[in-house]
Amino acid sequence: MTFSSSQQIVLASGNPGKIREIQAILSGHPIIAQSAFNVVETVETGSTFVENAIIKARNAALHCRLPSIADDSGLVVDALNGAPGVVSARYAGVGASDQDNVYKLLRELKGVPDERRSARFICVMVFMEHAGDPFPVIAQGVWEGGILNHAIGANGFGYDPVFWVPERQCSSAELPAAVKNSLSHRGQALRSLTDLIKAREL
Ligand code: IMP
Repeated sequence: MTFSSSQQIVLASGNPGKIREIQAILSGHPIIAQSAFNVVETVETGSTFVENAIIKARNAALHCRLPSIADDSGLVVDALNGAPGVVSARYAGVGASDQDNVYKLLRELKGVPDERRSARFICVMVFMEHAGDPFPVIAQGVWEGGILNHAIGANGFGYDPVFWVPERQCSSAELPAAVKNSLSHRGQALRSLTDLIKAREL
């Protein structure tokens, strides 16, 4: 292994919130967004979160010639046989807004009683030392909850206003960002990935 503790890492995302979150936890490594290298986002053709995270990490490492981190996440709803799953970002169609996706979810779950509205957010995070890395570091996070009958709260993004957080008795969009990070699928995956990456450093 040639990966050092201060090596730059490219993040396969242009989301400033994600970059800040990852930089705060992986403090020794400068994290650079792939947009700084004009990387064109790749098409997520995988049928699993792991495949899509690897596709994104490989694309970033290839174009930037740096180690890379990518994540893929989504919402899995039991009463919908796992939908929206890997297509969470485009559940209501390509280019759909968060609100379009939430409305579609509520429509699909119309009439489903509370006890059958269980759901979870999933996040898979991948680290690749280079584009041909045959042994990517893979971490996962799962956040269990349920789907409300209507949207509540103004924080977060995506499905947060309809995701019920049992341990806090509120929606995910009612949680302050720091509390959400301490509980969420993404926070769990990131902390786990960080520990695994540190174990690989020189
Ligand atoms: P991606 O990981 O960027 O492919 O996006 C996954 C999609 O899943 C997002 O666009 C959201 O719709 C949804 N999602 C993932 N994580 C969260 C979250 O923490 N809150 C709300 N929605 C989420």
